[in-house]
Amino acid sequence: MSTREPLPSVASFRAAHLIERLARVSRAGSYEAGLNPAQWEALRYLSRANRFSKTPAALAEFFSTSRGTVSQTLIALEEKGFVEKTRSESDGRSVALTLTDAGRRMLANDAERDLARDIDAGGEASAIAAALEAALRHALARRGGRAFGVCKTCRHFRKGERTHHCTLLDEPLSPQDAEAICAEMEAA
Ligand code: SF4
Repeated sequence: MSTREPLPSVASFRAAHLIERLARVSRAGSYEAGLNPAQWEALRYLSRANRFSKTPAALAEFFSTSRGTVSQTLIALEEKGFVEKTRSESDGRSVALTLTDAGRRMLANDAERDLARDIDAGGEASAIAAALEAALRHALARRGGRAFGVCKTCRHFRKGERTHHCTLLDEPLSPQDAEAICAEMEAA
């Protein structure tokens, strides 16, 4: 952090502390179903990412970690039958990741759901989500990471009557694609 930046406010220090504590409590619950936090994060990512973003490279970028670390996570998830790797249909070389039915069912046990219910109990879910999204954008900008935002908020998204279009990849987009996260997303 630059020494010229102003000190964070007392309220923001408190919020940062609470975010860390909530994350620790949630992570502790996540081990109960037999997956570690990185494995849960990978399942969540694959359930939300669009078809252009289900690759080991995009997952590594989303995690802000190395391909090697992500590879260990994917090997464990493949062995448990939650993720499958296939060769990409477009070039036959790159690897595409797919969540299996068992992986999708496993997400019903996700401790993140309990955390979401706890946030709902506070009654300010939308305001909290908006504030955390803004904080995440700042953090990623400082570290040079990609936003991985929702497709319909991307500057390359063109809304259609029934289907939409990506002007960057020149690909059609379904209504489901519009709600998915994308490695190539650029804020409008
Ligand atoms: S419109 Fe943007 S977010 Fe959607 S697929 Fe294209 S690049 Fe990705």
